[in-house]
Amino acid sequence: MRPFAYARPTDAADAVEQASRNPDARYLAGGTNLVDLMKLRIESPDLLVDVTGLGLDAVEESDGVLRIGALARNSDVAADRVVRERFAAVSQALLSGASGQLRNAATAGGNVLQRTRCAYFTDVSKPCNKRHPGSGCPARVGEHHNLAILGASEQCIATHPSDFAVALAAYDARLEVQTADGIRDVALADFYLPVGDSPDQEVALQHGELITAIVLPAPPPSARAAYRKVRERASYAFAIGSVAVVVAMDGDTVVEVRVALGAVASMPWRARRTEDMLRGTTASPEEIAAAADAELSSAAPLPHNAYKVPLLRHLIVSTLSELTEVGR
Ligand SMILES: Cc1cc2nc3c(=O)[nH]c(=O)nc-3n(C[C@H](O)[C@H](O)[C@H](O)COP(=O)(O)OP(=O)(O)OC[C@H]3O[C@@H](n4cnc5c(N)ncnc54)[C@H](O)[C@@H]3O)c2cc1C
Ligand code: SF4
Repeated sequence: MRPFAYARPTDAADAVEQASRNPDARYLAGGTNLVDLMKLRIESPDLLVDVTGLGLDAVEESDGVLRIGALARNSDVAADRVVRERFAAVSQALLSGASGQLRNAATAGGNVLQRTRCAYFTDVSKPCNKRHPGSGCPARVGEHHNLAILGASEQCIATHPSDFAVALAAYDARLEVQTADGIRDVALADFYLPVGDSPDQEVALQHGELITAIVLPAPPPSARAAYRKVRERASYAFAIGSVAVVVAMDGDTVVEVRVALGAVASMPWRARRTEDMLRGTTASPEEIAAAADAELSSAAPLPHNAYKVPLLRHLIVSTLSELTEVGR
């Protein structure tokens, strides 16, 4: 590992000031992803700015709006009473990820910024457009069984591995970001950049900008929610497909529905066609199946990840059926 300096800023503005000054600085939160990447020589910062002492770890609710401090630990967010009762898919998503020990260390901000688990990205002996733009994407013709079926490009078919971010997408979350000029606000929907020709450009953050909080607007009244994850073993594994659903019914009619898919794209994937087709319907089994098919009709699978299309269809149909059936 390359030698690095270590700083402990006193507040968010100080952190941004210190990180912005040095193009090779990185923020250190729980370190569960960054330190692994440093050991693999994928990240080689010469300054680590430790942000764990900034007091940005509160989980608070006010007027139905949930504010998760960026340094809140995944286990604390998952266990929070308001999160469990009013933002259930967030708690379920967090508890489905990693292990107890990792969730005790990992933070909310670090989770949404974790990097892809594409096998070529984590192997510096291989070409990879995300690590070295223009070097190629061996995954297309190689190991891609857990890579993207939606929104990918010729340059990169990586998936984003976070469970938490998928649930956040279904709650229309926003991020609070400390910049050198103050605080700005960015919708999660605009945070992850489309892959296109620049897979190395992943998120709408400038160097040195610090996420300070994740804000979830109040869910629609009487909303029900769930996060469902499929993985290759029962615990301690990344998703091969997942879905987060938030749905509100008025009697038999769907008044609001949000569906986000995980492990299918470089970002949490909002299934907007599914949502548009279900709003105002009674969500009959036929309507739910047609709405799932409409979204997945734009999938472009490769030979070894085509299984994800029926897998996601089943996840969408079963989760929506379950949530819309309760209380009919
Ligand atoms: C074995 C293993 C299994 C895992 N399984 C799962 C799983 O099933 N599901 C899942 O979702 N995740 C899983 N994870 C990933 C884990 O959830 C992430 O490693 C963790 O959430 C990252 O958070 P952190 O605080 O440790 O981030 P760090 O490693 O500290 O940081 C990650 C990145 O974010 C940057 N950063 C951190 N905080 C901020 C901030 N506030 N503002 C700006 N930049 C910031 C850092 O500079 C770094 O680039 C697994 C990890 C491991 C090691
Ligand atoms: S899919 Fe993306 S991360 Fe994986 S090898 Fe190709 S360019 Fe690299």
